[in-house]
Amino acid sequence: MYDIVIIGAGPAGMTAAIYARRASKSVLVLEALSYGGQIINTPDIENYPVAAHISGFEFATKVYEQAQALGAEFVFEKAVEIRSDANGKTVVTTDNEYQCKAVIIATGSENRKLGLDNEEELVGKGISYCATCDGAFYRKKTVAVVGGGNTALEDALYLADLAETVYLIHRRDAFRGDEATVEALKARANVRFIYNSTVTKLIADNRLDAVEVTDKNTGDVTKIELNGLFVAVGRIPENQNFASLIDLDGSGYIKAGENCLTNVPGIFAAGDNRVKNVRQLVTATADGAVAATEAIRFVSEH
Ligand code: NAP
Repeated sequence: MYDIVIIGAGPAGMTAAIYARRASKSVLVLEALSYGGQIINTPDIENYPVAAHISGFEFATKVYEQAQALGAEFVFEKAVEIRSDANGKTVVTTDNEYQCKAVIIATGSENRKLGLDNEEELVGKGISYCATCDGAFYRKKTVAVVGGGNTALEDALYLADLAETVYLIHRRDAFRGDEATVEALKARANVRFIYNSTVTKLIADNRLDAVEVTDKNTGDVTKIELNGLFVAVGRIPENQNFASLIDLDGSGYIKAGENCLTNVPGIFAAGDNRVKNVRQLVTATADGAVAATEAIRFVSEH
């Protein structure tokens, strides 16, 4: 029986582990993939206090080592269900069941797909959801980024240093992401902006060769020959496995306020999978601290 089981070893979950261990609670962190969450795909973090520049991987590794050194236990199994009854909580994974007094759900989110024919088959053959992971394969090649948020903008900027030409395809004429990054992109000679347009077809013969792009205003269809397409159209919260127990909003985010409390006493939500206005590294770690503090209080009182 653990005091607290934390589902997800991203910045929110690992920060929660640090807080809970510092309060001497027994802590198990369950993670389906590898520690770090989506921040490991960020090449350069510039907006987290203390370090002017740090890579997402280095950041995540430091937090992981800090949580481990404090005694948090990490197990790499995917949590598929949470049960709650008078005796406490049970977190069911693909391999085991773990008993605990409180649960923190810090599962983050996964890449949203474009939903086009062949999209899945072409992953690794011209389609990528991670510019920092795969950008190096496209040195001096032609690539496109789809999306208008900070991820798309930062991906385009990263790729502009590697690729010969970077198309940035956005479905509107105004970007959702930061103006400073938009300005930095406009200063790059090899970045071409395609506004009010969506990718409507993937053209491939074994590998992606081109995309068809449709202008939403005119209906004009243009074929763009390219080597790689980086999809950065947002993320989907990974809460589906807990939907029978935990209240979600229409977009699948856990209905938990700034105190991270869910509808089930003893179950808390932290990070990008919770309803919130600002999804940043700093708000994820802040959530970890708040959720852990609430979980510590719950464990002490029950
Ligand atoms: P996001 O902010 O949700 O942006 C998704 C973008 O994709 C939007 O521009 C959206 O268009 C577009 N889009 C969505 N579905 C689409 C579709 N089916 N076809 C074409 N375009 C589609 O997602 P994100 O960029 O991944 O960022 C997620 C969160 O992480 C944000 O809060 C962001 O600020 C944060 N983030 C922060 C940093 C940083 O601080 N350095 C870096 C990366 C991400 P519309 O604009 O028309 O809706």
